[in-house]
Amino acid sequence: MLTAYVISPDERKRALKCAECGLTYSVKDYDLLYSNQKLIYFKFKSPNSKRSKIYCHECILKAMAASEPAKEELKIKIITKHWEFICTYYPNEIDGDAEDFFKQIFK
Ligand SMILES: [Zn+2]
Repeated sequence: MLTAYVISPDERKRALKCAECGLTYSVKDYDLLYSNQKLIYFKFKSPNSKRSKIYCHECILKAMAASEPAKEELKIKIITKHWEFICTYYPNEIDGDAEDFFKQIFK
């Protein structure tokens, strides 16, 4: 199972930059966007990588799929400060998935 941690703005001091697309925000801006449900940054450590990296919500699923390219079905665990949930992601059916996934987190 792949695990991603939602980065809460209040536990972060330095600017955040997505390792995939380069999207960068200061913590102050992230706090605002996060509160308005516009953006989530995740921390994710690929099984092939030594360190965890930061990804925006647009890129996290791609990054997870890329870490296990042979799988048609990925079990994903999302952990926030207050709760966690497990979902299944199908990398081959990418349309609309990222959007739905993103909404789920703010439920
Ligand atoms: Zn990104």
